[in-house]
Amino acid sequence: MKIRAVELIRVTMPLVAPFRTSFAVETNRDVLLVRVETAEAQGWAECVAMDSPLYSSEYLDGAQQVISDHLLPRLFAADELSGAAVGGLLAPVRGHRMAKSAVETAVLDAELRAMGMPLSQYLGATATEVVSGVSVGIQDTVPELLDAVEEYLDAGYARIKLKIEPGWDLAPVAAVRERFGEDIVLQVDANSAYHRADARHLAQLDTFGLLLIEQPLAEEDLAGNVELAKVIRTPICLDESIVSAQAAYEAIRTGACAIVNIKPGRVGGYLESRRIHDVCAAAGIPVWAGGMLETGIGRAANLALAGLSNFTLPSDISASDRYYAQDLTEPITMTGGRVAVPTGPGIGIDPIPEVVTELTTARTVIQP
Ligand SMILES: [Mg+2]
Repeated sequence: MKIRAVELIRVTMPLVAPFRTSFAVETNRDVLLVRVETAEAQGWAECVAMDSPLYSSEYLDGAQQVISDHLLPRLFAADELSGAAVGGLLAPVRGHRMAKSAVETAVLDAELRAMGMPLSQYLGATATEVVSGVSVGIQDTVPELLDAVEEYLDAGYARIKLKIEPGWDLAPVAAVRERFGEDIVLQVDANSAYHRADARHLAQLDTFGLLLIEQPLAEEDLAGNVELAKVIRTPICLDESIVSAQAAYEAIRTGACAIVNIKPGRVGGYLESRRIHDVCAAAGIPVWAGGMLETGIGRAANLALAGLSNFTLPSDISASDRYYAQDLTEPITMTGGRVAVPTGPGIGIDPIPEVVTELTTARTVIQP
């Protein structure tokens, strides 16, 4: 396979409501789409980097530059390209995992579309549907939070995740438990907002029967999680810290986490995601699929991955309408708390050209 051209398309997607985490408030999501064209097919992917380097060190303009100047030239120079070869070709470039993931996924999508094989099959996924949870951002008041949670439970979401930060943790979690009872599946995500000294405070979450607490401490503080796990009973899940299969192995070996969240953008792609899945499965550590407010393009690919057998906890893969009134693809829908794994070739979903055009803010075509 040879690449004929790569198109980088920037689109701006209005969110149905602002999404607030411990690190940012998002009202729009700017997305970088990568379209790879070969003689046989075209492949699509989206880069999940945010506008600003607040979730991780990557950000969208930087990702676009590294793709144009450093990643694509290495792929153009390859004699014979495949999705599986991309990781090795890009390995000399350090970091920039979200950029690498987008490029690898677009190449893989083109390859699989030409072969007529779904990404789920290529990855070895066995499930036909994925349990769908929802991530609820930080709200201005507890009553507003309760209204939001009620809406999502009524819609059928099988698990509620509350974003937390210092000053917005015990009270909102207590209020949700009190209002909706012990039976709802509930977890929290701190996005690195706490410190080791907060251990006793975080231990007060133990009374609420949470499925897990996600990324309480800084990305680099694996040892802090080992200490924290001695003080709190709520299982610790790592997100930001798990940037590779190597990082997952170290976190598990040292006892820094009991559960792992997998996001392909964060770890450099779907193939590294599968390696993390396999490392965790071998160690008896359950995993689940995270999300980065993906459009239907990234969401469809995430569903393929989440069909692997060790994705045993509810995902953050919601329906399109959780975030977007108009998705770039046919909307991804949820029924009975589940979302179907796409069955078409490649990522199994196509962008709607008119919608992409309407939301596009910039386009660049790069040729070998
Ligand atoms: Mg998270």
